[in-house]
Amino acid sequence: MFLRHMLLAFALTIAALAGAAPARAEDAPPVAVAARLADDGEAAKLVFDLSGPVAASARALADPDRIVVDMPEVSFQIDPSIGRPRDHGQAIVKGFRFGLFGPGKSRVVIDLAKPACVANVATTPIAKGATPSRLAIALKRCEPAAFAQAAARDALAGAGPAPAAVAAAAPVADRPVIVLDPGHGGVDGGAYGIGGAIEKTLVYEYALELQRQLEAKGRFKVVLTRHGDEFVSLDDRVRIAREAGASLLISIHADMLGGAGSYVSGATVYTCSERASDAEAARVAAHENAADKAAGVEDKAQAPGVADILFDLEKRETRAYAHLFSRGVVAELQGKTQLNNNPERSAGFVVLKAPDFPSVLVELGYLSNPKDVQSMNSPEWRARTASAMADAVDRFFASGRAAAAPSPDAAALAASDRTAAGGPAAGGVVPGEPAKP
Ligand SMILES: [Zn+2]
Repeated sequence: MFLRHMLLAFALTIAALAGAAPARAEDAPPVAVAARLADDGEAAKLVFDLSGPVAASARALADPDRIVVDMPEVSFQIDPSIGRPRDHGQAIVKGFRFGLFGPGKSRVVIDLAKPACVANVATTPIAKGATPSRLAIALKRCEPAAFAQAAARDALAGAGPAPAAVAAAAPVADRPVIVLDPGHGGVDGGAYGIGGAIEKTLVYEYALELQRQLEAKGRFKVVLTRHGDEFVSLDDRVRIAREAGASLLISIHADMLGGAGSYVSGATVYTCSERASDAEAARVAAHENAADKAAGVEDKAQAPGVADILFDLEKRETRAYAHLFSRGVVAELQGKTQLNNNPERSAGFVVLKAPDFPSVLVELGYLSNPKDVQSMNSPEWRARTASAMADAVDRFFASGRAAAAPSPDAAALAASDRTAAGGPAAGGVVPGEPAKP
């Protein structure tokens, strides 16, 4: 039956306990306990039920078309999957996300299926004189030209420095600094998998375990690019690593395949290259590189492209080390967890672009695969595989190659492209590579 007004009422989910109740109630940010969306294809209204009022402002962002609503910090105690993208037929709204965007700042991002302009954004008390409030974001279908105009105007008005990210820790000279980069966070949930698995949560838990294992070795200083459920842009992740004096960056993610891809499983280690090793690697890089857009961060025109940086000679040398480390990780993980059919791949990941320290990106597994999700949810699996990764870090630095001057072999290895199969084209053993017993 066709309904003129399609009302999408979502189940109300309240986190039973946030766990960290602030000391004084007046310091606490308003709590959002429910969200619902009504969308009839001509107009849409997204409503959040809040414990108190917030001042919110909305603007349009193009490519992909979305509406970004910024506000002071709100504690969203709502199941993030409530706004996951789905096919609504005639609807204006494709999906929506919400969460922390920076210190003291929250954001709602509404992905549009059709051009729509902001009709109104208002917070009103649920009853006269009451504190609990409703934040209502009203959208109206508009012509593509009108949306483009609104986005251009908002871009001009909103041009300014990106919000400051967390301060990086001071460099420690005597121990190698291992930067762990749990992907996504805050307003950007990453991939949503089966059984309610969310990438940002799983990879953060993994990073904490890997931090514990590395620190237990007593030979490394470990720095995280994000702390808790916060949004950090890709550029800021690289900047935090550099300011921390990174010797190595390990970015941690989990992959997701739609459709008939649920049988694909296992961990994959990626390094940076200007040409993707295969189509699958290109897909993963495109997906992970879109994290900023998912959170509503505008493209920075002045930011150099990955390809520009990669032609730098220093980058080529650094890549050789990243490649060595990636091989070491795969070797250590072998037998301790399921590896992807093709566990070593490369593509143009923005977060791996730093030319001054080696970096790899690990996709722990697939959120679309039941066994992988079970593994990633298991503390025992995390401990076992993080221990293997920590051993790979130890071997990498024990070999002394990370700090030594790059050899011609290393440069040659970096210069050689990976084959379509994803393995090293040269296939040879690089002198000094940590030997497996
Ligand atoms: Zn990711």
